Parts: sequence; structure tokens; C-alpha cells
Amino acid sequence: NSREGLYHSLVKLGTKHEIPTSPDLNTANYVLSQFPLAEGKIAFIDSGSDRSVSYGELRRSIYSLASALFHEHEVRKGDVVFVLSPNTTLYSTICLAVLSVGAVVTTANSINTESEISKQLRDSGAKLAISAPEELHKLVPTGVPTILTSRLSDGNVLSVEEVIEGCYNSPELPQIPVAQSDTATILYSSGTTGISKGVVLTHANLISIMRLLFWQVDVTASQDDIFLAIIPMFHIYGLMFFGLGLLCVGVTTVLMQKYDFQAMLVAIQKHKVNNLPAVPPVILALVKYSRKARCDLSSLRRVVSGAAPLSKEVAQEFRKMFPWVELRQGYGLTESSGGATFFASDKDAKAHPDSCGKLIPTFFAKVVDTETGKPLPPHKEGELWFKSPTIMKGYLGNLEATSATIDSEGWLRTGDLGYIDENGFVYIIERIKELIKHNGYQVAPAELESVLLSHPLIADAAVIPVEDEETGQIPMAYVVRTAGSELSEDQVIEFVAGQVAPYKKVRRVRFIDTIPKSASGKILRKDLVSQSKRQVVSK
Ligand code: AMP
Repeated sequence: NSREGLYHSLVKLGTKHEIPTSPDLNTANYVLSQFPLAEGKIAFIDSGSDRSVSYGELRRSIYSLASALFHEHEVRKGDVVFVLSPNTTLYSTICLAVLSVGAVVTTANSINTESEISKQLRDSGAKLAISAPEELHKLVPTGVPTILTSRLSDGNVLSVEEVIEGCYNSPELPQIPVAQSDTATILYSSGTTGISKGVVLTHANLISIMRLLFWQVDVTASQDDIFLAIIPMFHIYGLMFFGLGLLCVGVTTVLMQKYDFQAMLVAIQKHKVNNLPAVPPVILALVKYSRKARCDLSSLRRVVSGAAPLSKEVAQEFRKMFPWVELRQGYGLTESSGGATFFASDKDAKAHPDSCGKLIPTFFAKVVDTETGKPLPPHKEGELWFKSPTIMKGYLGNLEATSATIDSEGWLRTGDLGYIDENGFVYIIERIKELIKHNGYQVAPAELESVLLSHPLIADAAVIPVEDEETGQIPMAYVVRTAGSELSEDQVIEFVAGQVAPYKKVRRVRFIDTIPKSASGKILRKDLVSQSKRQVVSK
């Protein structure tokens, strides 16, 4: 019967799509082969300094840096290079030069602390670091050789510019063959549980997502588009859009080192930006504050929201205020190389305000009952599982976490609860994995719990998300004090803040007698989440 037919067609919903690949195509060669013919076309403009870089200059700097890394710094196939920098016009040069010699890029938020950075250096086995000068002090104690993204006045440490100048006019890239299954990047994500893990993305993964997002789905309408990069390139969202993908389309991107609402509005007006990939807090800020700012935003044509759920009310308000702007939501994970769903048209996006779009080509999805593990029919809520050529190879050196996340058939468990309707629109209901998202950034409760447990006056602790209008979620800690301790909430907040990057701070603390746990010792986070909601209501 027709219901049965529908059921079967949606149990594994998706589209077969061939992605043309060649067995030894390097991500860098792929991106460079897509550069626009007009080499004088501007690739990047730094919104702070107004410095611009053309596609021709970008190509030459990639060739030079790649040659220098290979011939002078002995960066070889499989070596890991750690990139620690806010957005800069050199970010793509660095990533593409490293990739072109068959080496691997690992990125981190430049505001991470010294201990977070040294952990990642150890975990990824990085051999070389390329860092913003102001973050150098965090790398010095690790002993990892470092090149700076820009010159320091005392000139003691080599900068990328000097390295490029030393090898200027290298006519071509060193030709280092790679296999499609070779690692290209290691980005960090906590996945469904535990602490941050290295998400291994291969050349095949990256090339596939670029082809899908920017070629099949046609994210951009024309090469004349001006994008604004407020999303940091260390995260898959920024890396895929600005670091790599948009170069294949040949658009111009205005870069912001650091997100600042007012500076963003000024940059939109000044550079006549028409495309703004954003996160929900930015869209909320546009709705709330842009009227007062008196900036001309008439150039905007398309705003994309991703990395966290966008509220339907905020989306509606945005459409009312900016009727000339398309607003499209996308959804994805680092583990799926960024994109998984997207709206192919604004009409669809308007008609389905709760949805985050349809599967992008090559993606298959099933919705799985979290109790029985059985696939569910349309409109039934369960965990979303995906399969596609963009799904990560696994977590670096962590077979256990890999097999808990990707099953033997290659299905990725997202840790997100949702459903798919009969027309293929995907709806995310809630996050069932531990992950907290603050302003679109990942915060792993397990990491904060281990910081809390290192305090001599804390006997036990659990961290959960609390919904927050401005930032999406904030981390809240339930803390069991040791007997007789008079530790205060502020002391707990301060203790954690001293050890983690600012976006990971615990922002609320409740003392409790015992942390609810299952028989096997797992924290019953759901119970704490319900308790926190009850406490808010009874306030
Ligand atoms: P990340 O790996 O940092 O990109 O985080 C991926 C997670 O962010 C997903 O598993 C979701 O929980 C969440 N996420 C990303 N995009 C959306 C969206 N449009 N709606 C709801 N949650 C989202």
C-alpha cells in the first residue's frame, strides 16, 4: 500500500549522486584547478587593514609556501601542521600549501588556552605550528617549531611572509601524490560523548563536500558575490566556506579577524556584502540591534544560518525586517565535513520554517528509534543517521569512539534527535548527545567536569546545557562539595574560567548532594536538565 511505499522510500532517504574523483586528486590541486580565469580577481579583503589578495597572488603564495615547507622545513606527506590563527588572508594559503605537500592540517580556536593547545598538539602529533604572533607564547613551552602568520618587530621568529619571500616565484607545487583515503585535516569535536577528539577528514571527504556545496547545491548565485567571513576558519563551517570552498566558486570574501556586531554592519555597508554565512546569535543580534546601528544593509541578499538551531520566531522576525534578504538554514557536523542538509531555495525555506532543509546530494539518512535501533517512518522522531562520501574516516587513534559513532555499514550517528517529513525536509528537535553549543562553538561537558573534579573541594560534578536566548546555550555545573567545604558559586566559576578558553566558561553553578547516575555510573544528564528547568520555573 502507499503508506508502506512511503515508509520504505524514507527509511533510507537520499539521492544517488556520482561525485567524479580521480584516485590521486589532492584537495589543494582540486581547489587551485577551480580558481577563476581572471587571476586579478580579488579573493580576500581583510576588513581591518583593507589589504586585498587576488586569486593570482593567492596561487603564487600557495606555490611558494608549499615549496618552502617541503624543501626547507622538511614537511612531508602525513606530517601534521597545527594552525592557530584567527581569520587572516593567509589562512587558505597555509591550509592549501600544507595539503599540497600531502601533509595534514589541524586547526584550533586561537583563544584556546595553553593547556588546551598542548593537548591538541600531543594528540595530533603536530610537527610544526603556524601561529598568529599574539598566540606564540602558548606554543613556546611546547617546543613545537613555529612559524608566525605575520612578522614580529623583533624578527626572532620566522613569518609566513618571509618564508614565502624566500621561495618566491616557485613555478609549481611540489607534486606529492596522495590517495583519496589519506588524511587531509584533523578538526576537533567532542562527538556524541566525552572530550574533544580528532575528526579525521580525508581528501575524498573535503573534495566531495566542496563539489556538493558549491557545485551541485549552488550555494552562490554568481561569481560577483561578496561574502563576509565572520565565522572562524578553524571550524568546519568557516573552513569549508571561506578557507577552501568559496575559492572554488571564485567569489570575493571580506574577512573579519574577530566577530564584532558593529564592525560587521560597517563591513557589510562598506564592501556591499551580499552573502553572510552566520550562526543564530548573529541573526538574533541583527533582529534586535541593527535598526539602531543606522548602517545600510541593502546590499545583503542571502543570510545562511548554521552550527546551532535557529528559532522559528527569530527567523520570522528577520524576514519581516529584511524582506529583501533570503534566509536559509543548514545543518551539519564536523564529522560530516560540515554540510548535511540545506535549503535549495528561499521559497522552500519560507514554507518550512521549522526545518533545516533537505539532504544535500549523495547524503542518505535514516531516523533510528533510540530504544530499539530500528529505522522509523516519516514524521517519527528518532536519532538521525547519515551516510555520504563526506563522512569522516573516524576519530584519530580512537577506535572505540569511532565504532560507537560509525556503524559497520558506514552510518554516522549524529546524536541529534529529529524527523524527516514525507517530502524529505529534515527537522531537528533536540540534541541528545552531551555536546553544549555556546554561540555556535562546541563545549564538551566531560572536559569541564574533569576541570571541576581537579578542584580539591569538589567531590563530584556534572555539566549540562541551559538554554539561553542570546548565545543558544550556556554550560551549567552541578557540583557536590567535599564535606565541610564552603566553596561558593563564584569560586567555582572563577576556577574553571582560569583553565579553559572564555567560550567554555561555566556560567551557572548549583550545589547538590549527589550527582544522579545510572547503575553503570553514567551521569543521568536528562534528570539534571529537567531539574534545572524546574528550578527556573519555580524561581
Ligand atoms: P559541529 O561539529 O561543531 O558543527 O557541531 C555539530 C552539531 O551542531 C550538530 O550535531 C547539531 O547538534 C548542531 N547543529 C548544527 N547545525 C544545526 C542546526 N541547523 N540546527 C540544530 N542544530 C544544529
